[in-house]
Amino acid sequence: MISNLEGSELLHHIKDMVEALPGLGWSAWPNGDFICFSQAMEEYMGQQAEHLTSKDADGDFVWKDTVIAEDYDRISSAWLNAVRSDLSHYEITHQIQGAAGELRWLRTTARPQRDVSGKTIYWLGTSIDIHEAMTAVEQSQATEKHLRKLVDTVPGLIWTFDRDGEPRYYNKRLEEWGGVRVRDIIPSSGQTLLSAALDKMIHPDDRAELEASIRQCISSGDPWMARFRQRRADGMWRWMEGRMEALRDPTGAITQWYGLELDIENETRAQESLRDAADKLTKAAQFAGMAELSASIAHEVSQPLASALANTDACRRWLAMKPSNIERAKISAEAALRDANAASEVVRKVRALFQKHTTEREEQDMNAVIGIVGDLLRKEILARDVQLVTFLDPQLPLVKIDALQIQQVLVNLIRNAADSVAESSPADRTIIVRSSVQNAEVVVEVEDFGKGIANIEKVFSPFFTTKKGGMGMGLSISKSIIFSHNGRLWAQNTAGGAVVSFALSELGPPLSWSSGGEQRP
Ligand code: ADP
Repeated sequence: MISNLEGSELLHHIKDMVEALPGLGWSAWPNGDFICFSQAMEEYMGQQAEHLTSKDADGDFVWKDTVIAEDYDRISSAWLNAVRSDLSHYEITHQIQGAAGELRWLRTTARPQRDVSGKTIYWLGTSIDIHEAMTAVEQSQATEKHLRKLVDTVPGLIWTFDRDGEPRYYNKRLEEWGGVRVRDIIPSSGQTLLSAALDKMIHPDDRAELEASIRQCISSGDPWMARFRQRRADGMWRWMEGRMEALRDPTGAITQWYGLELDIENETRAQESLRDAADKLTKAAQFAGMAELSASIAHEVSQPLASALANTDACRRWLAMKPSNIERAKISAEAALRDANAASEVVRKVRALFQKHTTEREEQDMNAVIGIVGDLLRKEILARDVQLVTFLDPQLPLVKIDALQIQQVLVNLIRNAADSVAESSPADRTIIVRSSVQNAEVVVEVEDFGKGIANIEKVFSPFFTTKKGGMGMGLSISKSIIFSHNGRLWAQNTAGGAVVSFALSELGPPLSWSSGGEQRP
């Protein structure tokens, strides 16, 4: 027992204990002054034990110079507090400059050695070099910090799901982009976190299909890819492209899923405007085709007419001669007649061309035509954050129309309306297509809440456009189509936008062109 040791005997005992300790042993008196350091400590520090245990002129421990200046107060006050409070354990992690001059991490622990009455006789301490472990931890913390920073700054929205597909982490960009944090998603009872997250973020029209595709991949382990609309923090729906891959452990079991999504709204829009440009090109080509057709008709007609004119002139001259040359006048008159017949044949052929076209007119349900156009355009319109709403009169009588041409008119009117609401607030980005019966006419109205029509007198004139890259032919072609159906097409500004409407007779008109009548203006 140490209680009966005193003086040099006690000192010997302490030195033996210090040498027997693992690591870098040392000892101290109950007042905190150091008694001795082990040989291992001497070698580690490259200093004599006597020197290390002493104090400098200011009363500081001489090992002060071996620790970082700011650390001395922390270490010495913790140590003095342990001995003064007679704690049963002292422990501190700190850096120290060893013999090689390099700062290394140590973990120092000490315990008081007490006699039978519990009085502390001396402290035994040891310091273990934990430099490698500490630098490994520091490095991995630095790597983790770096990776997290990388994940947060990568220009993509990143998430992780656990192996069951439950959201676990969103990177900072995703949190900011969508205004949703994983910890704020609260599933209702019996609902999974994934379902709750999709409810919060995904467009109702895409949500069910999206969840099914995710769950299918979670169960099969296949990579996942999809395009869908997701709500941005400002409430706008944006087209997104998402991808997800499973992370597997060495046995091949899935541990989690990594997902990345990109906002592809602008690309989608660019593709649309490309499609738009292609449409315009087709329209332009059709128009150019019409111009060519009229030029060739004019050529075909003008030749026999010019010849007829020349022949009637000759005929007049033969008759004016004294005496009149009846024989020659007769020949010229016959030639003129032949020419006039040739011209009228060209006209007849052109008529036949249009008559053939008009045979495609059939009795149709206008609501069905609107439905087809709605389906055709809905995706394009939604991608522009515009809603298409229809109010259709179920009692609509049939109309005799060329359905393709009327579809073309509707496409024009709806696209114009979508262009017009492009800059309206999200709540006003709506187009209403209405069908009704008014005074024995089927009336179709396309209403928008856009900027209104700037120059209402001119909109139906060919080549009138206020759009960059517009052709200004849409409404004028629409007007001639509706007129060829003996209908009416008109435009009005409203308090909050514009309505462009057309009306067609219920039973279908007698077709003016096929009946040989004049084309209406
Ligand atoms: P484009 O669409 O190529 O300009 P259109 O003949 O279809 O050709 O339209 C002519 C012009 O009429 C448009 O440029 C626009 O100024 C105006 N317009 C047509 N529909 C609307 C509408 N719903 N709201 C506001 N302006 C419209």
